[in-house]
Parts: sequence; C-alpha cells; structure tokens
Amino acid sequence: MFKHVKDMEYTVHVDKPDPRFAILLLEQFGGGNGELTAAMQYFSQSLGCNDPKIRDMLQDIAAEELSHLEMVGEALAMLVGGVNNIPKDFPANHMALLGGGPLLTNSGGEPWTANYVNSNGDIYTDLTSNTGAELRAKLIYERLLQQTDDAGVKDMIRFLLSREESHNFSFMQAISALQGTGVDKDFRDSDFSKKYMNMSTGQGDSRGPWNQGNGISYETDPNVRYGGPAQYGKDPAPAGNREVAPGYNDNTRNNPSYNQSQPPGQQH
Ligand code: MN
Ligand code: MN
Repeated sequence: MFKHVKDMEYTVHVDKPDPRFAILLLEQFGGGNGELTAAMQYFSQSLGCNDPKIRDMLQDIAAEELSHLEMVGEALAMLVGGVNNIPKDFPANHMALLGGGPLLTNSGGEPWTANYVNSNGDIYTDLTSNTGAELRAKLIYERLLQQTDDAGVKDMIRFLLSREESHNFSFMQAISALQGTGVDKDFRDSDFSKKYMNMSTGQGDSRGPWNQGNGISYETDPNVRYGGPAQYGKDPAPAGNREVAPGYNDNTRNNPSYNQSQPPGQQH
C-alpha cells in the first residue's frame, strides 16, 4: 500500500528560474538513469524476489527513489518558472509548448520507456544491475553540479548524490552476502569459465587480478593451445558425458575436406 505523506524527503529551494538548467535536470526525471527508472526498476524487481529481506530493501529504496522523483520534479517546476507567459527566447523548448511542467522525458526530449528497466528475476543479477544504476545516477548528478550556480539546487543535488552513494553501498553489501547464489552459483562445469584468453599480439599484454591469481588461468597463445582459430572449446578426445562425439571436429566447414550436406533440390 502506498500513502501520501504531505512532506518531502528534502525541502527543495530554487533561487531563481533557470530553464537551461531545467532541460539538463530533466535527465534525472525521465531519463535512462533517472529517478523514475530507479523507482520502477527496484519496485518491479521486488515483486519477483522471494527473499523477504532483499524484497524489503528493494521496496525501501524504490520508495525513496519516488521521493527523489518528487524532489527533482519540484525543482524542475521552479526552474522553469511561470508557465503562463513563456517568453519567445525560452530555452526549455520542449517544455514551452506543453505547459512548462516537467515531462517524463530525458534532457533530449525522448519519452521515458520501460526499456530502461533491468529486472531479470535473479537477485544476484538484479542487484548487480542496481549498483551500476546507482553509479550512473551519481555520475550524472556530479555533472549536473558543474552546470549550475544556484545554491539551493546544488544543495539538493549533493543530497541526492549522497543518497545514491548510500544505495550503491547497500546493494554492494547485499551482493557480497549473496555470493554463490542464483546465477553466481550456476557456473558451467568447464575449464573455460575461469580462463583469460590473450587475444592480442604485440607488446604490452596487461596482467592483473583480472587474469592471474583468483583461480584464473592465462592462455598466452590460445591459437597454439587449441590448434588454431575455430577450435577453441572443442575437446580433441571427447569422452565420458561430453555432448560431442569423436569425429565432431571433422564435421565442420573449417575442415576443407568436409562435405556439407545440401538442402533438397540443391544437390549436384
Ligand atoms: Mn535517487
Ligand atoms: Mn538510488
């Protein structure tokens, strides 16, 4: 159940209208990394989440994102200013004709779309999407801060930015508590699930925790190791419960002597 509390999470102050900045701030109202996207993403994820603790967190954060949408919308209305007498040089051009209220679009006027929402029914995957979403929201607020001198607006943005950092932290902590579950558990029983392929020649191959230690193996020259391109992953001596039978490697178009069967009517 939702109830309307006639208060805001943060009281919005705008010193004076600034339609140019209003256009930029629209990005966080109806844009891909904006507050509506965050609210809809966490809320729709929560409905498919069977872990009551994680569901509670998703719904708390979704509710806060709606409060952020309210704050950004309030700020937008004040930044646009009076809507009954919009001057000809009004720069918020896609708001000028539609009453001046905040539109559910991004800063370029593109309508908000559910395509922005990532909800995949796997808690581990969803929370990983959410940490990225929070970092992108924070990044846009950092850039918005550089585009205004309005003290009230800057203060609101700093508050929002701090809240997105806090959400990012909560999502990251939840991810570490869920290690080894969901899709993180279902790693294929394959040598290839922890292998780094050096797919470049020449100087400057980089090494780091992404390709050494941590149980990962490094293939310096995969073409030599696997007998050439198009042979990766093909077991040279299939045995046991493998899906492919001996001779599999011969029946491919990479084998010059392999004769691919033709559809009926094309044989000659
Ligand atoms: Mn937010
Ligand atoms: Mn957030």
